[in-house]
Amino acid sequence: MPLPLTMSIARIALDIPLATLFDYTVDAAMDVAVGQRVIVPFGTRQMLGVVMECVASSDMDAAKIKPITRALQDCAPLSHELLRLLNFCSEYYRYPIGQTVLPALPTRLRSDEPIVVKSIVSYRLSAQGAALDLSALPKNKKVQLRILNLLLVRAHSKAELKAVATTVSAALKLLVSEGWVEEFDVTQNPHLNPLPQAGEEANEKCHLFNGAHTLTVEQQVAVDAVTSAQNFQCFLLHGITGSGKTEVYVHLMHHALQRDGQVLLLVPEINLTPQLEDYFRSRFPDVDITSLHSGLSERARLENWLDAQQGRAKIILGTRLSVFAELPKLALIIVDEEHDASFKQQDGLRYSARDVAIFRASQRGVPIVLGSATPSLESFHNAQTGRYKMLTLQQRANASARLPTVRCIHTKQNLMKDGISEILLREIELRITRGEQSLLFINRRGYAPVLMCGGCGWLSDCKNCAGKMVLHLQDQRLRCHHCGYQIRPPKVCPDCASNDLHPIGSGTQRIEEVLQERFPTARILRVDRDSTRNKRAWQTMREQIHANEVDILVGTQMLAKGHDFPALTLVGVLNPDSALYSSDFRASEKLYAQLAQVSGRAGRADKAGEVIIQTEFPDHPLYRALQRHDFNGFAAEQLAERDMAGFPPFHFQAILRAEGKVEGEVYAYLNQARTAAMALAHPVEVLGVVPAALARRANHVRAHLLIQASSRRALQTFLRDWQFDLDAIPHHKLRCALDIDPLEF
Ligand SMILES: [Zn+2]
Ligand SMILES: [Zn+2]
Repeated sequence: MPLPLTMSIARIALDIPLATLFDYTVDAAMDVAVGQRVIVPFGTRQMLGVVMECVASSDMDAAKIKPITRALQDCAPLSHELLRLLNFCSEYYRYPIGQTVLPALPTRLRSDEPIVVKSIVSYRLSAQGAALDLSALPKNKKVQLRILNLLLVRAHSKAELKAVATTVSAALKLLVSEGWVEEFDVTQNPHLNPLPQAGEEANEKCHLFNGAHTLTVEQQVAVDAVTSAQNFQCFLLHGITGSGKTEVYVHLMHHALQRDGQVLLLVPEINLTPQLEDYFRSRFPDVDITSLHSGLSERARLENWLDAQQGRAKIILGTRLSVFAELPKLALIIVDEEHDASFKQQDGLRYSARDVAIFRASQRGVPIVLGSATPSLESFHNAQTGRYKMLTLQQRANASARLPTVRCIHTKQNLMKDGISEILLREIELRITRGEQSLLFINRRGYAPVLMCGGCGWLSDCKNCAGKMVLHLQDQRLRCHHCGYQIRPPKVCPDCASNDLHPIGSGTQRIEEVLQERFPTARILRVDRDSTRNKRAWQTMREQIHANEVDILVGTQMLAKGHDFPALTLVGVLNPDSALYSSDFRASEKLYAQLAQVSGRAGRADKAGEVIIQTEFPDHPLYRALQRHDFNGFAAEQLAERDMAGFPPFHFQAILRAEGKVEGEVYAYLNQARTAAMALAHPVEVLGVVPAALARRANHVRAHLLIQASSRRALQTFLRDWQFDLDAIPHHKLRCALDIDPLEF
């Protein structure tokens, strides 16, 4: 039966694990646009979906196509640009379109509960106000003049104006009663808010820009290169710690804001966003800045998302999920710490926010800046081969601040006390007497990584995982960091009943204890995931560190990232060696980045810093390169190795992961997948089925199959074909996932 002419078909993305859109009819009376959220019947329920296409006909039997129940009009439809980006991600990462589109939205937009946005009162100049000659107004009306000057640029919310002066309310009241300024509700009149008129002069958009530091020559070169990019271009800003990358960002943002563009700044850690937000707010006091990350309440995330979508927010600061924000005036993307592994999502749509950001910038035709002191070898290689433009900052912005000296201490040839060398202990003592801070970096939380029996060699294995249970003495627990399983530590060995049980190795708690014994009056602060579980804890700790109320810091990588501790002059690195003989080919790259980052904490102000690395391999090329601060040399060596071994960035990888309770089922699935892959006879390399690095987690056997290709295109073509085979192999008892450009094995 042909459809009536007045009908059309909407193809809808639903949050369902099927790689397809679903067809529904649109009633002629219903106003439905591409990108709109709609409610549709699916099976016995009603579901929320997003209209991806509107077409004239469907391949489905017309009698079976159901009508859309209702179209939601409480929010503008998603833009074509965003839908295209999500389509690209779904294709590239081989993930169902509906499960790509819907999770990209704030949770509140995934429900049919109508959006009620609180009204935001804003102020703008009336026609009368705009015609005023400000120079003719009395000079003593300072606050009023400042407000008028701000409103000349654009409308402002009351909150924004409050930053001008504490007496702003009274001044505003007067200005409104004079008829020069008028109030309006931004949410009711989204189009009245700051969007510029066509043909408006760019130089009229002069935003406040506090404390414009004089740039170094290197910084200026970087700023000029990016601001002169007319179209899409990817820049790698490779700047050593303390070289002032942030100042370059500020200038680039200023440039984009002057042209009324939006700037997306991606950062790896939620922990860092409040700090950065405050910082950028202080630099751009009259600019709307918003943040998007998973730490926000649902309501806040929705409001911030809408601020970005309606063009109100000009600077959007966010973690990886913010790469999917609606940004109608996007003019610049910055990815800070671009090498950080947390840009890669490890479940669902396994996307790399950095890579998606690059695609987004190219789609939009705007520049993107990837910043890092230790770029990923992928980005570094792309910059060396000319795909990206390399911008280098080799000098510290504060000319008197020198790079720290790095020294290795041989753990087998030096006197050690409970995991800390005597040399390091003496250096710490020296810092305490000078009133300076020391940091001990150890990438293990807990007291000791394992409990062992001296009688029979029993180890505290987790009963659910292939890993060991970590001893936590504070709360008397053996705890598995993989599955969360925990027990009280046994009093005697469960195997031989010996009471000779002792902790092996050190974690942050044990180091803290050793230091407290040695320096009983020192103020020691431990910073790891256990001590910062409470939301405000880390903030309070940072304040303590800044107020110099701490002598010794003991911590994990949490301490390495983006914090400036002026009194810190000594960094000790304990037990970093395991990465040197890891099976993960990226382990060295990660270790270098981590150590360079933590070393960068030492001596950032005008005090010289020192870094002491405790190692069994003091001559290892990685430590040698660190001593010379020679990232380029390290990268060249690593890249040569990768090239020889056929690893990324020279080859492109995809991994098929499978997990299940029954080992045989996991391997049978992967072996069938492997046979199918070989039968396709594409120009890709199909490796063997192997156990994952953690072969068992939470009682699930884990294994994978790796595919490599010499080009992205070859890999993508293969994956498209292989997908049909994979769907056909029964795997309902398994958790399976394709991971494109994987970072974990
Ligand atoms: Zn025993
Ligand atoms: Zn476990």
